[in-house]
This record gives sequence, C-alpha cells and structure tokens, in this order.
Amino acid sequence: MEEFAVVIIGAGPAGGQCARQFARQGVRVLLVEQHSNFSQNNYSSAASPLETMALFDLPPGVVARYWHNLAIAATEKEQVWYSDQPQGVVFDFAKLRQFLADTVTEGGGQVWLGHRFLSYQPGASGLEVTLSYRAPLDAGSLEKVTVKTQVLIDATGSKRAVINYGQPKVTDNGQYYRGIGTEYLITVDEATHERFADTLVFFLGYRWSPQGYSWIFPMDNHQLKVGTAIFAGQHRYLGKLKPIRAYTEAIIRDYLKLEKSQYHLEEIHGSVLDYAINQGDTYHQGPVVAIGDAVSTVNFLGGEGIRHGMQGANIAVPFVRDYLRGDPKAFGKYEQAMKAHFAEPWQRTEKLSQRVYLEFGDRQIDLGVTYLSYLRYEDVLDLLFHYRFDRIYGGITPLLLKKVAQFSQQCRRWFKNLHHFFPI
Ligand SMILES: Cc1cc2nc3c(=O)[nH]c(=O)nc-3n(C[C@H](O)[C@H](O)[C@H](O)COP(=O)(O)OP(=O)(O)OC[C@H]3O[C@@H](n4cnc5c(N)ncnc54)[C@H](O)[C@@H]3O)c2cc1C
Repeated sequence: MEEFAVVIIGAGPAGGQCARQFARQGVRVLLVEQHSNFSQNNYSSAASPLETMALFDLPPGVVARYWHNLAIAATEKEQVWYSDQPQGVVFDFAKLRQFLADTVTEGGGQVWLGHRFLSYQPGASGLEVTLSYRAPLDAGSLEKVTVKTQVLIDATGSKRAVINYGQPKVTDNGQYYRGIGTEYLITVDEATHERFADTLVFFLGYRWSPQGYSWIFPMDNHQLKVGTAIFAGQHRYLGKLKPIRAYTEAIIRDYLKLEKSQYHLEEIHGSVLDYAINQGDTYHQGPVVAIGDAVSTVNFLGGEGIRHGMQGANIAVPFVRDYLRGDPKAFGKYEQAMKAHFAEPWQRTEKLSQRVYLEFGDRQIDLGVTYLSYLRYEDVLDLLFHYRFDRIYGGITPLLLKKVAQFSQQCRRWFKNLHHFFPI
C-alpha cells in the first residue's frame, strides 16, 4: 500500500493549489481527481480580478482573456465602466487546473486522475483511503486501490464527499443557500466577439435574470461564455421561473442579437453550489480537513470562488504541517483562521445576496444600478471583488451634486415661467 503524508481529494483550484504548496515544501502528497482530464468538468466561467495572477504566481498561459471594462445591465438601466488597462482575467479553467496539477508532479508530488474517492477508515497508523478507477486495459471494469495517509483533505467542492462521508446528506437541512449555474460556450463572428472581447457584462433584474444574475465573459478564439445563475428559493414577488437555459438563450438572442444560425454552440456546462450560511460547515474531523467550496469559500454575491478557494488552501497548509509535526489542536486553529479571514465579509454578502436575488423588486434593482453609475470604476471593483461596501458612499457626493444641479435648473425654469406670466 502506498503511503503519503497528505492525500487531497479533488483537483479543483483549492485542491490543486494546496497540493502544489505541499509538493513545493517537499511533503509527500497525492492529489486525486475523479475525472480523467480537466476538460471533462470545465464548468466554471472563471473570471477573476488581476491580482489573482500575482497572488498565486500564475503564468499567462492559464488566461483565456484579460478584461478591461465592466458592464452591468438591468431591466431599464445599463452602465459601463471603461479602462485602458487590464483589470482582470478570464481563466481557461481546464488549463488553470492542469497547470496546478503539473506543478504538483514537477515538485515531486503525485497526481492520480480518473480516481474517485469511495471511503476512508482508521488504520494502524493514519487513515486508509479507498479509491476506485477504471483499469486502462479494460475500460468496463472498476478497480479499487487503497492508500495510507496521515492527513486527508476534502477539496471536492460543494459535494463535500469526504468530510460528510458516512453521514446523511446535509444540504437538505435548511442551512444552505443553493445556486444553480448553467453556461453556454459559443463561437461568434468576429464583429460580435470584438464588441465583448474586453468586457465582463453582468445582467441583473427581471428582464434578463430574475432571481439571480447572468453574464457574458470573453474567451479567446472568438468564443464567449454566456451563463445564468439562479438562487434557489421562493422569491418575494416572482412566481414560477422558466428553465434556466431560457434566460441564457434570451441574452444570446435579444442582447447579443444572434439567431441560432449565427453562432456555434460548443458546449453547455454548469454546476450546483451549496453554500453553508454563517460558516456552518464542518472544517475538520480527526485527521480529515476540508478546504475550498467544501467549506463555502465561494462568495455568494457574484459566485466568485476560484481566488477564495485558493486563498483558503494557502491558509490550510501551515496548519496541516503543524498537525504533521504533532500539534493535535492545529485543525481547530485552522478553522479559527478561516473564520477570521472569511466570516465577516461573507456574512455581509450572504445577507445582501439573499435580499438582491430573493427579495428585491425590479425597480429597486434598476435604482441600485443607477446609484452604482455614480461610483468611480476603482470603487465599483473594490465593491464587487473586495466586498468594500463603504465604497457605496463614494457615490453620494456626485449624486447629490447632480440632484442640486437638476434642482437649480428646475428653479431657473420656474423663474422664467413666472416672468412670462407676470411681466413687469
Ligand atoms: C456556472 C458557474 C460559474 C462560475 N463562475 C466563476 C467565476 O467566473 N469566477 C470564479 O472565481 N468562480 C466562479 N465559479 C465558482 C468556482 O468555479 C468555484 O467556487 C471553484 O471552482 C471552487 O473550487 P474548489 O476547488 O473548492 O472546488 P471544485 O472546483 O468544485 O473542484 C472539486 C473537484 O473535486 C472533484 N471531486 C468531487 N468528488 C470527487 C470524488 N468523490 N473523488 C474524486 N474527485 C472528486 C471534482 O471532479 C472537482 O474537480 C463558478 C461556478 C459555477 C457553477
């Protein structure tokens, strides 16, 4: 039986980043992924602010497109902020995860693709973890393999396949928000691609995306990602929703102005995100630790989870090393460190997302976008990517100045009219 210090299940951004760190530090690590290549679950739209590149030392090869501009379209109001400089990236999600996996093997770690976590049990020293895989010579038959590890890390995303192993499914107990996202990858003509090549477009409001948000993100090779995420639950004003694909198709038809014959649908992909309210996840259990979306590092307001999953992985690594050195309290400290980093902004954004997606009327959403249009671009980015809600107040001064200007114009018009009615 092969032995490792750390086995990580799930080669998403969190698992890949975590394994990469251990490999760099010379820890004997195994990264396990159920899919046999990364294009099989290429589900994420994968937009991120520019800082992600430097923060995790990522090469340009994992980027599909750099974005400069940001647009928000609601039912009545649309606002675009422009920049000459790149403000972020849209990753090629498959290449990003492939890069992380490659750095694990380059650092001396192992990556086992096409292996699925089945179970674990305590062994004589450490845990025995059983995986299934398809034997290469006989694609029909499932084989099993067992490995030994000191620490087992759950990086299976929303599935929480390891940390919840042997327990009843917890996502039905009302402690989770559920987001369902579906995305079309389409190839478009050059002129259409050119229009959107540098811009992230988000859609809010009842016309485009009731009970959630939609987006158009640029990719390379004349491709665009067009998707919709719906917040599960009963909306205060809305009735039954259409199937999620109907909203994405409406954006292609009515916003991009493309009939079915005018674009090529490359693939449709998507996933479900279950987010534990109030950091209610299980972070550790004996020598099992959870990272990434398995502990709700995705931010539910805009569904950004890659950067945060990788950040959470970086937080976990030193505590896992402390545990390996004999500190039995290391994982309790890991949970505290994660909550110190995420709890406050995440609790604020989860409340806001509940209100925006399940409670707001369409007019309120339009007014919100109108209000945002008075903010400087850097403040909007700070608000959306760093959850700096104090930036909202930056819009009050220009808004008040505009109102004062409108009022004085109105007064001048009244005085003119008075003069007209009462000539001296
Ligand atoms: C439609 C959609 C669009 C999104 N767009 C963005 C975006 O634009 N920007 C952004 O930052 N985030 C986005 N996200 C969120 C982001 O993709 C996730 O938050 C992020 O990928 C989470 O990383 P993770 O490593 O924790 O989990 P995941 O990426 O979910 O990776 C988990 C891995 O574990 C594997 N696995 C699961 N079970 C097993 C098992 N039993 N055995 C072995 N392997 C297993 C899975 O195959 C998977 O590869 C989007 C999400 C969706 C659904």
